[in-house]
Amino acid sequence: MGNDTKEKKFCPSCGENVDTYFVDRSGGVESEGKKKGDICCIFCGMIVEDISGNDVIPAKSILISDDSAMVRELITDMLKENGLTKDVIASKDGSDFITLFVKKISKKTPFSLVILDVSMPILNGVNAAIAMRAIEKALKMKSTPVLFFTAQKCDENFKKVLTYCKPALYVNKGISSTPDLLASRVSQVIIKLLKDIKS
Ligand SMILES: [Zn+2]
Repeated sequence: MGNDTKEKKFCPSCGENVDTYFVDRSGGVESEGKKKGDICCIFCGMIVEDISGNDVIPAKSILISDDSAMVRELITDMLKENGLTKDVIASKDGSDFITLFVKKISKKTPFSLVILDVSMPILNGVNAAIAMRAIEKALKMKSTPVLFFTAQKCDENFKKVLTYCKPALYVNKGISSTPDLLASRVSQVIIKLLKDIKS
């Protein structure tokens, strides 16, 4: 971890102005996936700069899981409208998610990215992501990037989840005042995840 610049920046994941730190060297656990000069959120580690979507290559397909039909619809529309993908499949809980995830693998067209709500009935988002990683390991697949939706800001425990399930980022959906603002933040975090796949 680098020098704490104490410079407040907007973190799309946390959804508010946060203190940041400056990455002063590459490598190491803390700076994994980051390079020297990146400015990161002290809460979730998200790089808070340079995530403009100029050169984003859309994802082939995205699997969303959320128990709220309204959120599923909002995110599906946003992904399509922002050109992030043309193919969105929605599931309503973690169990449904695993079924659809494995079905897609069996057709040899795995999802490019998944979005998981943390709080869901039957199988929650964190457990679904852990199950997904176990399936990928068994099949010797690459790790599918995950975006988690939470109702709270990232704390030390959730940061461990993000590290365990990497590549993973999160969006605190409890904080956005309007659906449009939430959609814009989700879009920025997905662009970041998609950029990481290509690099
Ligand atoms: Zn953050």
